[in-house]
Amino acid sequence: MKAQPKYSYHVEPFSVEDRPRRFLEAFSAILEHSNYSSVLDFYIRISTKCSRCTASCQVYEASQDPRDIPCFRTELLLKVYRRYFTLAGQLKARLFDYFNLSDDYIDQMAEEFWRCTACRRCKLSCPMGIDHGMMAHLARWILSEIGMVPKAMVVSTREQLEGKTRNTSAIPAVAMKDSCEFLEEELEEMFPDQKIKFPMDVKGAEYVFFPAVSDFLMEADTLMGNAAMLHSIGASWTIGTQNFDGIDYGLFYSDRMWERIIKAQLAEIKRLDGKIMLIGECGHASRSAREGMQNFIPPDERVPVVNIMELAHAAFTQGKLKLKKGAIKERTTYHDPCNIARTGWIIEQPRVLLRHMCQDFVEMTPTGADNICCGGGGGTVSIDEIHEFRMFIGGKVKAEQIKKTGAHYVVTPCANCKKQIDEVIKAHKLETERTGLHDLMLQAIEFD
Ligand code: SF4
Ligand code: SF4
Repeated sequence: MKAQPKYSYHVEPFSVEDRPRRFLEAFSAILEHSNYSSVLDFYIRISTKCSRCTASCQVYEASQDPRDIPCFRTELLLKVYRRYFTLAGQLKARLFDYFNLSDDYIDQMAEEFWRCTACRRCKLSCPMGIDHGMMAHLARWILSEIGMVPKAMVVSTREQLEGKTRNTSAIPAVAMKDSCEFLEEELEEMFPDQKIKFPMDVKGAEYVFFPAVSDFLMEADTLMGNAAMLHSIGASWTIGTQNFDGIDYGLFYSDRMWERIIKAQLAEIKRLDGKIMLIGECGHASRSAREGMQNFIPPDERVPVVNIMELAHAAFTQGKLKLKKGAIKERTTYHDPCNIARTGWIIEQPRVLLRHMCQDFVEMTPTGADNICCGGGGGTVSIDEIHEFRMFIGGKVKAEQIKKTGAHYVVTPCANCKKQIDEVIKAHKLETERTGLHDLMLQAIEFD
């Protein structure tokens, strides 16, 4: 095997002593305050070890390491549950020399649950519907409660919840506004007869916009395409200067963090008296907002969550958004971000726009709900220490898929996937350019 993932844990302010006891206490508290136990009870009864999930995991396909077999990894946590949280397990432990949770076993879980990208492709092939991505999330949550979580996650989440900037890239609001003013000037050069703006702190706007905050640093064309599209359809929208980050790493490692972040985002929408949470080109930000709204916010306080590609698609089919047919000449393919495609939520909408804008649109195989993860999902893209693992194990199958299309552009509407696919293209020396959907729209948009 080419690479082993190794990363720095965040352990402070936790003690490294007596981890098995603390792991079990955290597990017990989570079970008490959630409904995970009903799912785990179901899983320990039905798991058939048929191995059908094995064939659908892109990590295992590349590594051929038994540790990457989905049901093998899930069994690590189910074994702890069976032993400590079921009557049968407790009786068995009294009668026989049965499994006891050890430091080494905890280390093994901390290593292996971060080798999964939580893409949930394997769930589609499991006859029992076992969700290994959810199991990775639960294991990571318990581990994070004893300080065992990659530092990259903690540093970003802490800045978002407690730092001065309140976002994962630590961009001060004044710098964000400054870069939007610069983009407005660029847009004026492109479209001199339009006055395309990035509205800030507009009270009562219909849409409050939350891109992945990294877009302000690295994705100027995506943001300009977003603003141009919203301008052309006459949308009432705004960016909130007190919270403008759609990222929610809680989705990857902790329901507790997930809840705190979605509540902070919602507070900004309420401060501005906004109506709809509009998420930019980001798969995980979209799913964390949509499911977070359902899971953690009382029904009478929720607002609808819309991904910007859904809005563009609706405007296009209603004739409000005009795009020049065949404006993009180069061969173009589309990467489905797992967090919006796996459940069938956003698959066709971007394709309707791409088939219209592009002269030569081609699909990867497989695609849509059955797509292959970019290899950086589940938060792993933020962990620089596992770069080689992400490139040559997690991202190997995606690199082969992109290469086979012979495409010049790969459209990747997600901040996580954009970073990972940029690195995959470089590591595998692919002759493909990664772009966003709204980046291409910028070349095709027509104003009345
Ligand atoms: S969720 Fe994805 S990466 Fe994780 S085990 Fe399943 S197929 Fe593999
Ligand atoms: S496909 Fe489902 S039932 Fe079969 S081994 Fe994998 S998790 Fe178990």
